Amino acid sequence: MQILDGKVCSDFYRAQVSETVKKIIALNEKPPRLSVFLVGDNQSSAMYIRMKEKACRETGIETRTHVLSEETSEADIIELIKKENADSQTSGILVQLPLPKKYNETRILSNIEAAKDADCFLPENIGHMFLGNKETVISCTPLGVMKLLNYYKIDVAGKDVCIIGRSNIVGKPLALLMLAANATVTICHSKTKNLPEVAKRADILVAAIGRARMIDETYVKPGAVVVDVGINHVEVGNGKSETCGDCDFEKISKVAGAITPVPKGVGPMTIAMVLYNTVYNYILMKKLDIKMDIGPKF
Ligand code: NAD
Repeated sequence: MQILDGKVCSDFYRAQVSETVKKIIALNEKPPRLSVFLVGDNQSSAMYIRMKEKACRETGIETRTHVLSEETSEADIIELIKKENADSQTSGILVQLPLPKKYNETRILSNIEAAKDADCFLPENIGHMFLGNKETVISCTPLGVMKLLNYYKIDVAGKDVCIIGRSNIVGKPLALLMLAANATVTICHSKTKNLPEVAKRADILVAAIGRARMIDETYVKPGAVVVDVGINHVEVGNGKSETCGDCDFEKISKVAGAITPVPKGVGPMTIAMVLYNTVYNYILMKKLDIKMDIGPKF
């Protein structure tokens, strides 16, 4: 059974990002900048942002983080987003979700200029991704999954791929990318009947559910590749918690051919792809003659 190591793989792609940033600077450009908005007091969001800032620093991307209290008005957040839109060095804008309940996420996100969308959250960029246009960013987690499979030379063409989860940030865009890579895709969700039976038909099973260790060996065809997107924090007593995926790693590893661990699986790939999108946007914005292979091989 092979471990699909997201840390090793993300280091490989981060090195590519780093090289590309060096090429940008060699053209007398400033480094690309990722501008991040953290609103309210969400500990997980703050941790994800620190990880993204560190990854940016290590690859030569500049960061600017707007840490805003929940008292900040929607109009003020939008005003700051517009300033970032107007700043020619900023090529990635990321509003860390979820926002506190009082805000209208869609309205806030819609103020990000599509050319600076670091997450592929905007309808315009989702449309480009849907159409398979090359000159666009791609949703970070799905892109990270495709690149992880690519890195380990797991060809998805002609394979039966089952994705459990249909969210706008994971399940749906991943299905599009898999389809574009010639997989036969089944999308499952909370209303799917006979889920273990459907999942067990898959050569590649992706879990993006948000339910700790829900998927066990009864969902997995012997030899299948299992990609665990889930990040769950479960109490282990004494006020401590541990991070685990949507898959029961111990049980599945007895039957699967390959599996991503949690942590150090899809998570680091998502971060690497935020960097990718930020640098790719910069190249497109400035019309630089630098090649960057953003999409998975179709
Ligand atoms: P979501 O809550 O938006 O969507 C969950 C999906 O799972 C829904 O489509 C729902 O229909 C389906 N679902 C829920 N219960 C189910 C059940 N019992 N059986 C079958 N399907 C069921 O979640 P999301 O934003 O897509 O995130 C999913 C998980 O992935 C979460 O654990 C999240 O933390 C994690 N995540 C990880 C990364 C990463 O970088 N690794 C990125 C994004 C999300």
